[in-house]
Amino acid sequence: MKIILLGSPGAGKGTVSKLLIAHDGSAHISTGDMLRNNVKEGTPLGKKAKEYMDRGDLVPDSLIMDMMEERLQEPDCKKGFILDGFPRTIPQAEALGGLLKKLSLTIDLVVNMEIGKQVVLDRLTTRRTCSNAACQAIYNVKTMPTKVAGICDKCGSPVIQRSDETEEAILNRLATYNKQTAPLIDYYNKKGKLLTIEAVSSDGVVKAITGSLSK
Ligand code: ADP
Ligand code: ZN
Repeated sequence: MKIILLGSPGAGKGTVSKLLIAHDGSAHISTGDMLRNNVKEGTPLGKKAKEYMDRGDLVPDSLIMDMMEERLQEPDCKKGFILDGFPRTIPQAEALGGLLKKLSLTIDLVVNMEIGKQVVLDRLTTRRTCSNAACQAIYNVKTMPTKVAGICDKCGSPVIQRSDETEEAILNRLATYNKQTAPLIDYYNKKGKLLTIEAVSSDGVVKAITGSLSK
């Protein structure tokens, strides 16, 4: 499958992506994860991106597009890809359109995962992520705690709160989403590719997506 997942921070795009790749072997492309890995490894891109990310602001479009142009040509994308957190702005969507054309690829579906603001705030302030870049398992101190406090069940690394998951940065990420990313819903709706789903359960979202693709 070649799909785009839209949805505010905390809508569950990462969880849904992981369930979908288990289905058909498509590549999960999370620009957020890629950027965090660059920050962690101290690459030139990571050094430029970190301050934007910590504030909850978007990283400049040009940096994202360079990164994505490379990523979409890697061999694991041949089977398909799930774009999680990209595009995030109208200029990114337009640039993606040009890039896909150049690579002779088309998107099957754009999924809009809808979720209420209070649910998002509750989810994100209680979310914890495995600090091991190769694992990045997601937990929740209330609803899905680790077996041993602070330690990843899967790999034994410490689980942490992301530096952009303070209440202040979360509120800024939500405002950024509404201002810069929400206009993409209309943009893709006009292209006739949009499927809007109430994102209450990840399993429900996965069923709706696979159902729509098999039609
Ligand atoms: P969330 O969707 O939960 O906010 P992500 O992991 O997708 O988190 O992104 C984390 C941060 O990485 C964003 O707040 C932003 O600074 C940066 N980022 C991720 N994807 C993009 C993108 N496509 N364009 C610009 N910045 C991005
Ligand atoms: Zn882990």
